[in-house]
Amino acid sequence: MDILKLSNFNVICIAENEYDFQIRVVTNSPPLVCPHCGCVANLYKHDNREQLCMDLPIHGKRVGLLVKRQRYRCRECSQTFWERLDHTVDEKRNCTKLLLSYIEKQSLKRMFVSISEDVGLNEKTIRNIFRDYINRLEETLRFETPKWLGIDEIHIIKPRCVLTNIEERTLLDVLPNRNKETVVRYLSRLPNKARIAYVTMDMWQPYKDAVKAVLPKAIIIVDKFHVVRMANQALETIRKQLREGLSPKVRRGLMNDRFILLKRHKELTEMDKITLDLWTKNHPSLGIAYELKESYFDIWESDTRQKAFLKYHDWKAKVPEELQSAFEPLTKAMANWETEIFAYFDHRITNAYTESLNSLIRVMNRLGRGYSFEALRAKMLFIEGLVKERKPKYQKRLDDYEHREYITQCSTSGLLSV
Ligand SMILES: [Zn+2]
Repeated sequence: MDILKLSNFNVICIAENEYDFQIRVVTNSPPLVCPHCGCVANLYKHDNREQLCMDLPIHGKRVGLLVKRQRYRCRECSQTFWERLDHTVDEKRNCTKLLLSYIEKQSLKRMFVSISEDVGLNEKTIRNIFRDYINRLEETLRFETPKWLGIDEIHIIKPRCVLTNIEERTLLDVLPNRNKETVVRYLSRLPNKARIAYVTMDMWQPYKDAVKAVLPKAIIIVDKFHVVRMANQALETIRKQLREGLSPKVRRGLMNDRFILLKRHKELTEMDKITLDLWTKNHPSLGIAYELKESYFDIWESDTRQKAFLKYHDWKAKVPEELQSAFEPLTKAMANWETEIFAYFDHRITNAYTESLNSLIRVMNRLGRGYSFEALRAKMLFIEGLVKERKPKYQKRLDDYEHREYITQCSTSGLLSV
């Protein structure tokens, strides 16, 4: 039973302490051919050295293989060479190939420092293994070009462009910045670009410019979420301005104002309504601002583009002069992005998925302080984008296993039979 998966080695002895196992091994298949001149069976042992390489942890302890490595000399050409270990060992990283592939998979999910502690390789080596691995993944894996593309912003150290497949709710990529050139380069490289029929985005001019340049036929839709949010922001501006002009005593009367004002009409409790009425009586502009916010949200319930358009222009005419500056970011955006904002009523697509990515990023930022953008991007891409399956449950039935019969040999540690 080769539970150690070391079929190319013979185990000489196993030592164990509180943290580690050390397994001394020798190779079991000496070379037959000289790598220099190619002659057969004319080699003799020269000298040897011990080489440590790490293997998969056992029983939660780190495992080091102390390999007795033989050097040979050739009688024919009298050159020397070390026996090869590359059937089992990755010489670049000084660990077994099994450990290497274990680290690769773990490095997407866990902190490098924690893997380092478990396996006994230093953090820098783990980082390098991770980097090689994601480079390899990037070369081989391609996502299908979506019909509905989402372009949005997420915050990883600074604002980045995030691209999603809206129908599938999958992540396509995260770009290092939100510049037009960066987005153009990404879109230009997509295969089957013509497949993209709709693009939803937040109101960021470089995104619009990039899409118009590369995907002139795609219909651009501003994500509703980003538009209605601006009504809340306008109300927030008015609330803050109002508070600034009040004495501390009056200000105390506006307890929890932000919380209540952000609620939709239908979410207000009876108590909220009484409070809101009182505020409106004392500060009429706050009441008007609240109603404007609410009626702006109502526009989004319209069933056609035309109704929404008319409702909006009615709404705009009702904004009193003293509140216009607070609503200006919203009204300006409505003017600059009119086509794309009202396109929502013909194609009701929103990219709510980005929000769930933002919560994933918050988790990762907490876990992975000190990670570079590239590392966080790869973690997101290859966890969120592709590797959605989880490890299956532990199987109790023996039938589900690859079967090997063996007789237990007595081993001194009581741990392994080899
Ligand atoms: Zn030779």
